[in-house]
Amino acid sequence: MNQRTASGPASPFYTEDHENFRAQVRRFVDREIAHHIEQWEAAGELPRELHRKAAEAGVLGVGFPETCGGIEVPDGFYGIVVTEELARAGSGGLLASLMSHGIASPPIVNVGTPEQKERFVAPVLAGDKIAALAITEPSGGSDVANIRTTARREGDHYVVNGSKTFITSGMRADLLTVAVRTGDAGLGGVSLLVIEAGTPGFTRSKLEKMGWWCSDTATLYFDECRVPVVNRIGAENAGFMAIMLNFNNERIMLAAQAWAFAKLCYEEALAYARERQTFGKPLITRQVIRHKLVDMKTQIDAVKAQLDLLCWRVSKRQMPVAEVCMLKNLATRTLEDVAGEAVQILGGAGYLRGAKVERVFRETKVLSIGGGATEIMKDLAARQLGY
Ligand SMILES: Cc1cc2nc3c(=O)[nH]c(=O)nc-3n(C[C@H](O)[C@H](O)[C@H](O)COP(=O)(O)OP(=O)(O)OC[C@H]3O[C@@H](n4cnc5c(N)ncnc54)[C@H](O)[C@@H]3O)c2cc1C
Repeated sequence: MNQRTASGPASPFYTEDHENFRAQVRRFVDREIAHHIEQWEAAGELPRELHRKAAEAGVLGVGFPETCGGIEVPDGFYGIVVTEELARAGSGGLLASLMSHGIASPPIVNVGTPEQKERFVAPVLAGDKIAALAITEPSGGSDVANIRTTARREGDHYVVNGSKTFITSGMRADLLTVAVRTGDAGLGGVSLLVIEAGTPGFTRSKLEKMGWWCSDTATLYFDECRVPVVNRIGAENAGFMAIMLNFNNERIMLAAQAWAFAKLCYEEALAYARERQTFGKPLITRQVIRHKLVDMKTQIDAVKAQLDLLCWRVSKRQMPVAEVCMLKNLATRTLEDVAGEAVQILGGAGYLRGAKVERVFRETKVLSIGGGATEIMKDLAARQLGY
């Protein structure tokens, strides 16, 4: 699974610059994350200082404009490199929570004012503040156009009432990009507000989950919560478009996550199969196991080929919406298959806490649900394909 071969990079999309950046992120993961991940999983959240260290390592700002304190790069492959290297720690919760600004901040970057970028994006990319995106509600997540949290205008404030749930980094976030209803029913009545921690009328409670333990997930409550109008991102009732602008990127990064964790499971299973003896022979010599490993790698490599191609197309400002939906489904299905087979190859050792494959196996479903569930991705792809 090496990216490189004796004759150079295995993929034409990755340059020396990407590989240098990879080395930088890898050092950060080895130094600041690998030895602490079990402790953070048990604690149910990441330490705040990790965000500052990640900012220093160039992990938080990559792909964001320099005017917001980011690091501009020519393509999305730097994001895939970050995903792949963070995934080596074996915790999807780490990626979800450390990188929650990856879904929370782009709407502000894309349609916010310079002052809003200064207030709401720059401190996040510096690792001083934590950002979260709050769209999903207890009444439903897939049907984004029908959110029920309301924001009624009173002078230079909006008064927000309602609730959001399943929000990643929701307990620790200082700045929350929140979708609210300011207008009529449907997608034309949605606006985005940045709601700051400590705003009167805003409270939250923690949720326990199957996986992603070190990612704090919350339900948010807004009770007559007064938010300044200057915190509105973009025009009133134009919030849905601001959310949609980032969907392709978000889904490509979720596919990258699924691919990176599938690859990790494959590597763990391969190493174990080489080491483990059964009936007097290494497991890797058994045809059944060899075929399982080849099947796993076949799926993983197919995902990577499509991931790189679509990442390149999106970097070229193309909008391959149907293909991105299908990629997300292919990648998450691959992760479910590969993680299951990896646990099977490790046998009892794969079922024990502390094994990377055990954790990844518990974390597979969330990627098939979040960021557009499998069924929703198929519906959208079918519409885009003109069915
Ligand atoms: C750990 C975790 C972290 C998350 N983080 C965030 C976050 O940071 N911010 C945020 O806003 N949200 C977040 N989410 C929410 C996530 O985006 C939603 O769970 C997702 O969009 C699905 O919404 P739902 O759970 O309400 O399911 P529902 O919309 O109720 O759907 C339930 C099931 O029915 C299927 N379904 C729905 N409609 C149809 C249909 N018309 N036809 C066929 N099938 C259908 C869905 O695909 C799904 O399988 C997170 C979720 C989890 C689990």
